[in-house]
Amino acid sequence: MIEFQNVTKRFPEGTLAVEDFSLVLPSHKATVFVGSSGSGKTTLLRMINRMIDPTSGTILIAGKDISGLNPVLLRRQIGYVLQATGLLPHRRVVDNIASVPRLNGVSKRTARHDALTLLDTVGLDRSLAERYPDQLSGGQQQRVGVARALASDPDILLMDEPFGAVDPIVRAELQVELNRLQRELGKTTVFVTHDIDEAFAIADQVVILRTGGVIAQVGTPAEILSNPVDDFVSTFIGADK
Ligand code: ATP
Repeated sequence: MIEFQNVTKRFPEGTLAVEDFSLVLPSHKATVFVGSSGSGKTTLLRMINRMIDPTSGTILIAGKDISGLNPVLLRRQIGYVLQATGLLPHRRVVDNIASVPRLNGVSKRTARHDALTLLDTVGLDRSLAERYPDQLSGGQQQRVGVARALASDPDILLMDEPFGAVDPIVRAELQVELNRLQRELGKTTVFVTHDIDEAFAIADQVVILRTGGVIAQVGTPAEILSNPVDDFVSTFIGADK
């Protein structure tokens, strides 16, 4: 479980990105932060792996205050997938994935073996293992990005608009695949998107944000669809049309 307790983030030049945010993100479930540009989604996500630290408030992972944890070690326990996949262009697919457990001291042979298994997990043919990232399609690159994020077998998977750069058909396929992975692997997933349909497709728990990381509504997709709390949410989910 990840818990935000009264978390505020004010950037040094004054922007109040997140104000007094409190929420529990249940273990083994997918929570999706959805909101328009500048609503604080990425800031919330990056506070979980300490790429950004709160100005005030507390974040707990499995009951432990993360402000006392070494950020580098913390990040090795948390998978992170970005729109730009973060793949190393000069390394083959298999080595991109294997390089993560290598950081944690796993032998080269085991890491490469596990990397091939991860290609199966994310639905990629093993014949792609020896290619370089730019020899793959955008959707395939994203799958490698997910495999790489899973390579340290993290309990938590952070995903920031991971499918934003791929076409709608591949995007829908990736959403289905992510659901499958979520069911099979049971990671605690935190996913950021500005696309409400994507949020509904992926989430166990949807968090609709207003500017400043203010929660407009939290609930399952069914709860939000059947009972939007106010006009802002109705408009956001398109229920007013
Ligand atoms: P988007 O969908 O456009 O990525 P977002 O919901 O993820 O937006 P954030 O990136 O979390 O929003 O930004 C929230 C607010 O904080 C914005 O007003 C943004 O300009 C500001 N902000 C984000 N990062 C910084 C930074 N490093 N320094 C100053 N202000 C920042």
